[in-house]
Amino acid sequence: MTTRNVTTNARNHSLTRRKFLATGCIALSGAAVGSRAGRLLASESPKPPDMPNIDPGYVGPQFFDEREEQALLEVLESRSPFRYWGPRRPTKVLRFEESFAKYMGARFALAVTSGTAALDCAVAGLGIGPGDEVIVPAYTWWSDYTCVVHAGALPVFADIDTTFNLDPQDFERKITPRTKAVIAVHLLGGPCDMDPIMETARKRGVMVLEDCAQCVGGSHRGRKLGGIGDVGIYSFQVNKMITSGEGGAVVTSDPAIYERAARFHDMGTIRSVFLDRLGPSTVKTFAGENFRMSEFTGAVLGAQLTKLDSMIAQLSRNAEAIYDGIRNLPGIRLRRRPDPAGDIGYAVYFETGSKDTRNRCIRELRNRKVPASTLTGSVLLPIEESVINKRARHPDWPSFNTPHGREIKYGADCCRQTLDIFDRFVQIRIGAKYTQRINDYIVDSIRDVYNSLA
Ligand SMILES: *Cc1c(COP(=O)(O)O)cnc(C)c1O
Repeated sequence: MTTRNVTTNARNHSLTRRKFLATGCIALSGAAVGSRAGRLLASESPKPPDMPNIDPGYVGPQFFDEREEQALLEVLESRSPFRYWGPRRPTKVLRFEESFAKYMGARFALAVTSGTAALDCAVAGLGIGPGDEVIVPAYTWWSDYTCVVHAGALPVFADIDTTFNLDPQDFERKITPRTKAVIAVHLLGGPCDMDPIMETARKRGVMVLEDCAQCVGGSHRGRKLGGIGDVGIYSFQVNKMITSGEGGAVVTSDPAIYERAARFHDMGTIRSVFLDRLGPSTVKTFAGENFRMSEFTGAVLGAQLTKLDSMIAQLSRNAEAIYDGIRNLPGIRLRRRPDPAGDIGYAVYFETGSKDTRNRCIRELRNRKVPASTLTGSVLLPIEESVINKRARHPDWPSFNTPHGREIKYGADCCRQTLDIFDRFVQIRIGAKYTQRINDYIVDSIRDVYNSLA
């Protein structure tokens, strides 16, 4: 196939594809509403004829258009899908890194294959290893735990508070002389309470890794998340904000962290593109991985990044409309938000008095086709069987074989506050494409259900 053929075929199909892209925003599947309980309930529920079709869907793909299409075609036509060389000089990943660093207010960005890979690179960048402890929130995604274990270091759990993020007081309590870093995870679209976290970390000499996978583009007091601590990571998997299906990034303003992370992502070696940014190398070659991003991924992400601000604007407009509609309900307690202006509007949250009430609330809301659920997208890590039993890839793995590694106990007792918060909050997902009618419908439904509980 010649280059021309690639172009012509693509153009011939572009009408159908455009139609697909256009309808993708509206005809969203029911998958996002999903647990087993939800589907059972949905089949019993009444269906008023005027009920809007509410499905938040996946955000990034709803914004796919000619810009992603054009960028992908450019990679095909250039026949240069590898980021470092090809018949034509590849620029997609390179440019994406530059734009992404600028957007996040950091000196450097490194594009990688996933958020999990980004965490492994960030941990390598910070020089974390056997004997070190890393404080991790008890409720977060697996990768925040596995990146510590893969480094041979010891994960120490701290509770979340009603921000759903690291409780700054419990973080401080969990610091020992062995604590090297803390992973501040900005979960479910909302920033951590960064002021006390940074203050404690700086005072106690603990490095801060910000995991922004669930809050890409969020901010705290005007600073983009990921650029506040020593290093930040992002995921571009389909559940997150901007997406290429899979993908991730690391940002930092520290040249030594950047060089170590860049080396780790590419077999321990360093390419000229990084030295162009860094100047002379200061780190010797060490054993690394291959987490290099392809030009196809970089092409899609470059296009998606130009839309991140409008994704956030649409989501947060809808989220704030719903918060505004429910905040005056008598006695209602919402998620605590250290900086509401930095929230990306992934979902809205309110508290109930008990797990039973929460379940009743979710059931009632789902009967009305409102996408209500428990908190989603993370794991109560300390009560996972493989965590309780400290199972790594080898029984002699260094993480759990230091004196303190043998001594530490995971399980429910190390995260009571987290379990309690998890059990009492209701989550309502927000869609970027929700109309005012949908927002009003959700507000009315929450008000009805909330009032019926009293
Ligand atoms: C999704 C996610 C990751 C991992 O990202 P992947 O791209 O799926 O590897 C890490 N941390 C958090 C908080 C996440 O939600």
